[in-house]
Amino acid sequence: MTDASDRSSGEKALVLFSGGQDSTTCLAWALDRFAEVETIGFDYGQRHRVEMSCRLPVREAVRAMNPAWAARLGEDHVVDLSVLGAISESALTRDTEIAMTASGLPNSFVPGRNLAFLTFAAMVGYRRGARHIIGGMCETDFSGYPDCRHEFVQSMQQTLNIGMAHDFELHTPLMWIDKAESWALAQSLGGDALVRLIVEETHTCYHGDRTHRHDWGYGCGTCPSCALRAQGYQRFIAA
Ligand code: ZN
Repeated sequence: MTDASDRSSGEKALVLFSGGQDSTTCLAWALDRFAEVETIGFDYGQRHRVEMSCRLPVREAVRAMNPAWAARLGEDHVVDLSVLGAISESALTRDTEIAMTASGLPNSFVPGRNLAFLTFAAMVGYRRGARHIIGGMCETDFSGYPDCRHEFVQSMQQTLNIGMAHDFELHTPLMWIDKAESWALAQSLGGDALVRLIVEETHTCYHGDRTHRHDWGYGCGTCPSCALRAQGYQRFIAA
């Protein structure tokens, strides 16, 4: 599901783009393969606005990196899903500490989030003529989020195609790789320039911290997201 065929390389793709490390790597992956690439982001009442505010600067930095990519990068779409924040109890949308819950999932889990994101992405993709949808879901370090699993993405592709009588292809280039391999994938797609861009411009910290600068980028350095990013970067540098 992750390799675009020769037939599809001339087509349009839509990337779920949050301005974080994973979705920025996915954007580069798509720009490397598809003739036209648009981005979509979701405003769902994230506690920290920094993620939404990183999106456009990251997009512009990616555009400036590579003239071929600049020619392929098209429109950005932002969908207001503030209803998600209103109906879900999550540490990403409420002012609580990240912790494990009785269900074995961290309380950063927003039930149905990727279900909603992929559905709205498909609705926009349908209208925009983009049948390829790219997401950063990853089963290797997925914190147990059920909607990051390969099985879910496969099932979602089938459901979208049945429900919309369409032929969407969902691509998840990060599904089977860990964070160290994600840094390596970014380097293979855009060299040291893309690695530097991800360090300087992207944001993944759960606490929205952009005051502490580490060799792997900005963040609090202690939340689960920072810990993953830092460990992955150290292993990437050591490799
Ligand atoms: Zn953090």
